[in-house]
Amino acid sequence: MLEFSIAIPESLENQLRTKLLANKENEDGVFAFWRPAKGKRRKTGLIVDWLAPHVNEVLHHGNITLTTEYYTRAREKALQLKAGLVLVHTHPLGSGWQLPSSFDKKVEGVKIGPEIEDLTGQPMIGMILSGDGTWSARFYSTNLKGKTTLNECVSVRIVGKYLKLHFNPSLKPQPDQLPQQVRTRNVWGDARQADISRLRIGVIGYGSVGSLVCEQLVRVGVTELIVMDFDRVEIHNLDRLLGSNLRDAKKHNKKLSIAKRNLPKAATSDHFRLILEEGSIVEPESFYSALDADVLFSCVDRNWPRQVLNHIAYTCLIPVVDGGVSIFVRKNGEVQHAVVRAQTVGPERACLSCLGMYDAGKIQLERDGILIDPEYIRNLGTDERYKLEQESQNIMPFSVLLSGIEMGQFIELVTGIASTGDIGRQQYDYLTGEMSPDRETCHPDCEYVRRIGDGSINLPVLGKDPAID
Ligand SMILES: [Zn+2]
Ligand SMILES: [Zn+2]
Repeated sequence: MLEFSIAIPESLENQLRTKLLANKENEDGVFAFWRPAKGKRRKTGLIVDWLAPHVNEVLHHGNITLTTEYYTRAREKALQLKAGLVLVHTHPLGSGWQLPSSFDKKVEGVKIGPEIEDLTGQPMIGMILSGDGTWSARFYSTNLKGKTTLNECVSVRIVGKYLKLHFNPSLKPQPDQLPQQVRTRNVWGDARQADISRLRIGVIGYGSVGSLVCEQLVRVGVTELIVMDFDRVEIHNLDRLLGSNLRDAKKHNKKLSIAKRNLPKAATSDHFRLILEEGSIVEPESFYSALDADVLFSCVDRNWPRQVLNHIAYTCLIPVVDGGVSIFVRKNGEVQHAVVRAQTVGPERACLSCLGMYDAGKIQLERDGILIDPEYIRNLGTDERYKLEQESQNIMPFSVLLSGIEMGQFIELVTGIASTGDIGRQQYDYLTGEMSPDRETCHPDCEYVRRIGDGSINLPVLGKDPAID
């Protein structure tokens, strides 16, 4: 069954909350705008903008009336933005996830819903902000016969320096406190543990780093995990791939079969659910599966998948924790550099492109399958071939280190126990022993910042992955 959710950039949520809860005595309301991000199992309404009412466009009389003038302006703006319409209002005396009153449902679902869907091509969304700052939301879809169905959302996700989820308690109830998680829970408290347990995490790539990230996620208590990979185990993976053995390499078992064998046994959640997605993030089928996640881990080693994940982080408001190991050994055996880097990208954070974390010049070569073409590799000069080989150098301790730093990034994103949310990019230099965080921002003309909340449309970044045999 399709699941519904809402995602809002942190700064926009802050504006809305500040405006709407300025006077807690009175109910208040505004129009906002949304675009769709549709995954395989979840449809998300991405809130992209709102329209501040002029004086007297919202009439307060215990309840509120939004005037025809305001509604007309909102409809025009929705068309301009090529977006759907959201009616946001407050329940100032309420706390926790609010359900719409029968009056709310009549206004949103019957009075304006069908008209708005007809005009914008998107269902009407109703959102309620309670006095304690909790959001709730629902989609009102109208069929061709004019009958409206209300789909209550499972969550509202606020995405920025932090990732804060407000859960619908009927669809995602608080999980039980489990004895096997007591040490973990004691670090950040029961409420944050309940939040982490209810996240759906996607790990893209089940290699050395991906397998270690998954192990930590399921032990920390994540209940729903999407693992994506298309590769098979080779003999040269055995020194780094958690849970793999000689038999896997001899039989060329899929890396996903190791995930399937090990992760359910390692999971501390009582209702652990593993979703295996065999494929590549750059292909539509798997791309849409990734859009079901609340957070993604980029455990890929090529530039093209990184570009796609960067795209998802901004256009679909799903934070991506990314990292990499870079080791270069000179021909005389000296280690020239050995660096481990991790960063989290998404709205209000610097993107992978601006951070220089992928080489855009190599993407076309990867799309064309050139870099894995034996003919191309044979024809490289000795130095070029040596450089290419060095790109896949790694040792398990560096993967363990990287997966730990990435998990630290994730923990801070979702718990905020260091009160910063965004730790910045962390870089560990093995040769000097230094760990240096840096806080970059995107270039002023960064295309990803411009495309925040664009949704799952217009996807030239996808294609056929030649790395899949
Ligand atoms: Zn209401
Ligand atoms: Zn950028």
